[in-house]
Amino acid sequence: MWRQARWHEPLIYELGAPGRIGFLVPDDAEIVEALGGDRDAILEHLVPEALRRLSPPPLPEVSEVEVARHYTRLSQMSYGVDNGPVPLGSCTMKYNPKIAEQLAADPRIAWLHPLQDEETVQGLLEILYKLERWLAEITGMDRCSLQPPAGASGELTGTLMIRKYHLDRGEDQRVEMLVPDSAHGTNPASAAMAGFRVVRIPTDEGGEVDIEALYTALSDQTAGMMLTNPNTLGVFESRILEISRLVHEAGGIMYYDGANLNGILGIARPGDMGFDIVHINIHKTFAAPHGGGGPGAGPVCAKGEMVDYLPRPLLEYDGEKYYWDHSCDKCIGRVRAFHGNIVPLVKAFIYIASLGPQGLREVAEQAVLNTNYFISLMKGAKGYMLPYDPSKPRKHEVVYSAKPLAQEKGVTAEDVAKNLLDAGLYAPTIYFPLIVEEALMVEFTDTETAENVERYAETLRRIAAMEPEEARKAPRNTSIGRLDMVKANHPASVTPSYRIYRRRLKGEKLRL
Ligand SMILES: *Cc1c(COP(=O)(O)O)cnc(C)c1O
Repeated sequence: MWRQARWHEPLIYELGAPGRIGFLVPDDAEIVEALGGDRDAILEHLVPEALRRLSPPPLPEVSEVEVARHYTRLSQMSYGVDNGPVPLGSCTMKYNPKIAEQLAADPRIAWLHPLQDEETVQGLLEILYKLERWLAEITGMDRCSLQPPAGASGELTGTLMIRKYHLDRGEDQRVEMLVPDSAHGTNPASAAMAGFRVVRIPTDEGGEVDIEALYTALSDQTAGMMLTNPNTLGVFESRILEISRLVHEAGGIMYYDGANLNGILGIARPGDMGFDIVHINIHKTFAAPHGGGGPGAGPVCAKGEMVDYLPRPLLEYDGEKYYWDHSCDKCIGRVRAFHGNIVPLVKAFIYIASLGPQGLREVAEQAVLNTNYFISLMKGAKGYMLPYDPSKPRKHEVVYSAKPLAQEKGVTAEDVAKNLLDAGLYAPTIYFPLIVEEALMVEFTDTETAENVERYAETLRRIAAMEPEEARKAPRNTSIGRLDMVKANHPASVTPSYRIYRRRLKGEKLRL
């Protein structure tokens, strides 16, 4: 069984010795000779004087082999989708195909500059143009902006669009955004940032939006509703058409949080459910890496009248060439410099192109199959319960509660998570959604094998059977054990290498 290595790896600032270097750069004289000319003129051209450092930066002084060993050891202490399952519910941590990594790193893409002339980047623009069309088709929308760099930023974009829409119509009394109590924290946060008052809509016993409560909350102050479907419990909102109709009748706009698109990809479309604006988490549904793996992308798509409010410029094609159309009549302006995080967008293009419509559908089918296989394996497991109508099938994810285990033995969801790490697995998302006590939110995605789903269920059963004192001692097999939660959250303690960096900046001598 694979396990993280346990090293006591020092910080890179604690390695090395004064004067030790990794590689040689040519000195000034060599550069001047190579370029053949006047030293000052050349230096001024390379780095203007105003931009030059007055003293060397306080970098670690280490040899190449020390650097290689340090980072290799750190990678062995770490855990990611390339090591084993990472069933973090809501996050959709699927395997990232290496072909996409390779193609996106091609110098013909990676070395392009955002200020290059349109004529010189026609190939990249074609990729982005096709990607936009595909995303619109997949979500049932008309157009998309590829600018927002993450889901949360897409939410802010969407809520700003909703705000401008109502203001343009003179409906400035529409200040309320409806958000279910099962929503991701970014939903109410984005709505509040866009200036809305957040109204919480409760969840009914079946794990869906409480329609009665929704009906009561609607008024001429309603600006819109933010919803994800399947929701964060993994339950499909079966009355979604009715919800959309009610919100529209009250004059509101329907916003789709696309983080759970993986559960319905190629099968159902937010546009057909009555949504007007959608964000897509490229780094979740479309297999671009996230977490430590790189930046995300959160395109926002819109339908009908809402297209006018999308950020500009939008990408157009005149039959011969691709170009950015900067015209902005009602649009909310730009939400990001340049054209978005290109690399994850290119990876999504490769992912969609390689799977095709049938392949995308199989992604959702496989993700849902994995969830329901897991549920079948967990039937009757002591210590865990499945809240909100356990007879209902779940889609891409399922949320268990470890409350029985906590009540009977004092073993909490956090203890369960730490014991999973000891077993060489990764923890699920815990304590979210907030409406489930001792929540364990499990999402295997389409890329996990049946054997690993089985291993996960077996491990959860074994943890529930452990002696409570033993269970609370985990993790034993990781380099870092339990952190003091209070200290870990204290700003002064979160970045030790930054503290050392600061001390070096001040010229303090470090004991090495
Ligand atoms: C991840 C997530 C978000 C936020 O997306 P980011 O890309 O992380 O900013 C919003 N809603 C849900 C349900 C999510 O899982």
